[in-house]
Amino acid sequence: MRYDWYKSHGICPYCGQADAVKGKVFCLNCLDRQAVAAMVYRSSHDTTESNRVRCRERYRKARETGICVRCYQNKARDGKAICQRCFMRIREKQAVYQSKRRKEGDAK
Ligand SMILES: [Zn+2]
Ligand SMILES: [Zn+2]
Repeated sequence: MRYDWYKSHGICPYCGQADAVKGKVFCLNCLDRQAVAAMVYRSSHDTTESNRVRCRERYRKARETGICVRCYQNKARDGKAICQRCFMRIREKQAVYQSKRRKEGDAK
């Protein structure tokens, strides 16, 4: 295992070049990079309450105004929550899934 080899030799397994920081697995440089990456990840995967409320609000408004709750672009079909295009897409996906399942069943 490369990771373990570097770790046991006190070398950063991420870049494989610099010495690891004392008490840490990675070097200072890579620790920095990971902290930045984690920050970017967190900000792009915002799951805060305000975000969730916004989503719910958007859904409610779309339903009220008869807009598709899936793409938020087209008019929803009469009495339905989604538009014709999204409806067809979902149906297509389901057809693919079902035919795949059927095939797997045949292979048995
Ligand atoms: Zn490193
Ligand atoms: Zn749609």
